[in-house]
Amino acid sequence: MPELRYDPIRQRWTIISIERGRRPHEYVTEKEEVKKVDSCPFDYGNEQRTPPEIYAISDQPRQPNTPGWKVRVVPNKYPALRIEGELKREGVGLFDVVSGIGAHEVIIETPDHNREMSDRTPEEIALVLKAYKERLLDLRKDTRFRYILVFKNHGKDAGASLSHPHSQLIATPIFPPVVKAELVSAREHYLRKERCIFCDIIKQELTLRDRIVWESDKYVLWEPFASSFPFETWLFPKYHSHDFALLPDEELYDLAVALKEMLVRIKALLNDPPYNMVLHTAPPPHPRPGHADYWETLEFDFHWHIELIPRITKIAGFEWGSGLHINPTPPEEAAKYLREVEI
Ligand SMILES: [Zn+2]
Ligand SMILES: [Zn+2]
Repeated sequence: MPELRYDPIRQRWTIISIERGRRPHEYVTEKEEVKKVDSCPFDYGNEQRTPPEIYAISDQPRQPNTPGWKVRVVPNKYPALRIEGELKREGVGLFDVVSGIGAHEVIIETPDHNREMSDRTPEEIALVLKAYKERLLDLRKDTRFRYILVFKNHGKDAGASLSHPHSQLIATPIFPPVVKAELVSAREHYLRKERCIFCDIIKQELTLRDRIVWESDKYVLWEPFASSFPFETWLFPKYHSHDFALLPDEELYDLAVALKEMLVRIKALLNDPPYNMVLHTAPPPHPRPGHADYWETLEFDFHWHIELIPRITKIAGFEWGSGLHINPTPPEEAAKYLREVEI
């Protein structure tokens, strides 16, 4: 019999097929034709074709917007939200309207058009993490932004419009509902128990072990109990840490090793599927008038992490209409496949 499972962090239910889960090879991911790109705006020599760079990492002296960089961050040419302007929040009758202030940046992860994150060395991946960190630290000074979401779309079916490896970030003047649900669950758990809900779950998963995919001294990968999608994978620091952006640079390498492990396993098992990856870290704790207690326990109750969803199933009417997901592969089976996959 299928099982309905509740996720206490995201506060949502998923229907999970328990008896015979769909096996990895039963998910057909159509291989995208790798288009030969004559002229990619993210390659060396084409720096003038992007908006002027905001940040770059390079190990040689260079002028901005010229080749020689290792990671380069530029504003999105077609931003979802705009950086300039005054933030206004107003009511229009029953409705709430907030001006479309935000930031939308593209993190060009490597100058090499064909070097996907899973193919790179941990040293190279750590540079991308460093760029995430620096952009978060810079953007959170802007009190107009309530949250900054770093994410990566890999493959056309996951929403990537350019094949050159890149991540993005969007700073929003409101809390994205998914993040808000996590923050609220974490805070409520803390107020009840004075413990971090994520630390509690990590401890439990490391004891039960049937959903664990991989672990190192500092990081752990597992399939969440109520995985909404098959082979959904979470990456957590094992020790309590609420804010990714506060990680010292020298610790980014260990995280890069864990991230590579996650990407390599997913790629090998599911034939390089399209995927979405998101970083959930603490919001900038700007004071909120009328909510004096908002961030009082943030440092203790939230626990940053990375979530990866392979885009191998489609969201259909039932999911849209109900907010319930159907996951045809139980996370225990998914974890076993990911543990045992040859890499
Ligand atoms: Zn390119
Ligand atoms: Zn914790």
